[in-house]
Amino acid sequence: MKRVLLNIDYTNDFIATNGALTCGEAGQSIEAAIVSITNKFIQNGEDIIFTIDVHDEGDTYHPETKLFPPHNLRNTNGRMLYGQLQQIYEESQDRANIHWLDKTRYSAFAGTTLDMMLRARGIEEVYLVGVCTDICILHTAVDLYNLGYRIVVVKDAVASFNQAGHEWALGHFQHTLGATIS
Ligand code: ZN
Repeated sequence: MKRVLLNIDYTNDFIATNGALTCGEAGQSIEAAIVSITNKFIQNGEDIIFTIDVHDEGDTYHPETKLFPPHNLRNTNGRMLYGQLQQIYEESQDRANIHWLDKTRYSAFAGTTLDMMLRARGIEEVYLVGVCTDICILHTAVDLYNLGYRIVVVKDAVASFNQAGHEWALGHFQHTLGATIS
């Protein structure tokens, strides 16, 4: 079965201690697991898509402006990948199987070409890693379910600033969306 790794929002603003909307230690503690699965997909020549939040400063029309402090602003350090992942991306970004897809909403499908990218490659199974388990991972997983993809959530490679939300979402993936928790 052809599979892809969606690497969601593992950026400085969401992970670093001084990040604008950080998961803090919960996010930092999954770095080794994200790096490990990312390297495996790179070595296998399998597709990896970095689906990364982008916002414009002072965008009064964006719904998140009322909900969260400014984060992942275009062309800032906050939007670069956290820790070792940034270097891994820089070293592998020229490979045909490594992709970067900007997104402006929680779901990686909202307003993006993701569904067309997956269908063009004959992808049936989608691995999810990154943050936040109960926000961007959740909304992306719901869209994957509705579009008929098989979902695998890598438990040690997802995190949230809300531990209760994290645990609730893991149950929802498994029992409501039929995801495999690996
Ligand atoms: Zn955002």
